[in-house]
Amino acid sequence: SSVFANIVRAPEDAILGVTVAYNKDSSPDKLNLGVGAYRTEEGKPLVLKVVRRAEQMLVNDNSRVKEYLPIVGLADFNKLSAKLIFGADSPAIQENRVTTVQCLSGTGSLRVGAEFLARHYHQLTIYIPNPTWGNHTKIFGLAGLSVKAYRYYDPATRGLDFQGLLEDLGAAPSGSIVLLHACAHNPTGVDPTIEQWEQIRQLMRSKGLLPFFDSAYQGFASGNLDADAGSVRMFVADGGECLAAQSYAKNMGLYGERVGALSIVCKTADVASRVESQVKLVIRPMYSNPPIHGASIVATILKDRDMYNEWTVELKAMADRIISMRQQLFDSLSARGTPGDWSHIIKQIGMFTFTGLNTKQVAFMTKEYHIYMTSDGRISMAGLSSRTVPHLTEAIHAAVT
Ligand code: PLP
Repeated sequence: SSVFANIVRAPEDAILGVTVAYNKDSSPDKLNLGVGAYRTEEGKPLVLKVVRRAEQMLVNDNSRVKEYLPIVGLADFNKLSAKLIFGADSPAIQENRVTTVQCLSGTGSLRVGAEFLARHYHQLTIYIPNPTWGNHTKIFGLAGLSVKAYRYYDPATRGLDFQGLLEDLGAAPSGSIVLLHACAHNPTGVDPTIEQWEQIRQLMRSKGLLPFFDSAYQGFASGNLDADAGSVRMFVADGGECLAAQSYAKNMGLYGERVGALSIVCKTADVASRVESQVKLVIRPMYSNPPIHGASIVATILKDRDMYNEWTVELKAMADRIISMRQQLFDSLSARGTPGDWSHIIKQIGMFTFTGLNTKQVAFMTKEYHIYMTSDGRISMAGLSSRTVPHLTEAIHAAVT
């Protein structure tokens, strides 16, 4: 018999499992609102035109070889990624106080940052928002950090529990790490206002809490790259230290290319270079060095003014379509006379709406209407189109009445 005979079957991933179930459904009306990936109005995945153009240029360039990248990845990509999130005029970059390493998309950047902190940081507790992206708990826990939650979402208002957040961070042991969603909080779609961010910053700095930003949706939330990086830049502008994990999955549509970056902003250039030397020791035994293709696409686009501008236009079009779907769903529920206050659908931002539908209602909508979503009632607005809004409206209406 197998040496693995005693292995028990693991449960399906809570988010990716939704797509597994969707694929098994043979109904022509089926609708997948679980997946965290952009879809066109026709329900198709989208490759940006500027990405296709960059890929053509890369293919036609015969001087390109397939040698290994350095442990920290493509130098141009790292420099341009730091500029993208911290701003072109960031003093931290000019003073060489930032180390940036190319990692395997957002997930890999978070994991490398977590492994580095677990080895070298003095306070091994990390606070993550409740709720948060399901993978956060595992990423930080498996890296050896002790994971605690801070209050974030208030189901009563379907908005931010700001008092709870301040109380919990105020009570956190000095030096604790705090995971912050830079924008478009997943799964709630609820972000602090600029004024609230400023209060969070003051509290965290006064207590010596270390910010770790997860930036998976820069530009995807508001349609503006600078606006969506506002929270991060506020924390860098005060001269303090922080970490930031960037993903190009959503904002450049490079999901499967697995391209992202981890930046660590330090007090001095000397500290930053010592930090980088240790991050390399984290990466080398995990995967040696990152893949070249996705990072080359990103660098090609970011370093060319025309291509960069083309990207921002395509990015804004994706963000605008999502914002328009929010409005259409809200209008449709209002017109249907569906009981309840649905204004949170247009107030929340980013890819997801936290509907407030409970597990039972979600199960009902899946069974009776073939609509798939995570059991916490989160729906991906990117998976919706003008054509499918009426079907979703009927399902929600039936679920709450
Ligand atoms: N962080 C958040 C909040 C996310 O929603 C996601 C993707 O869904 C990620 C990080 C990482 O995604 P990826 O590893 O595909 O870049």
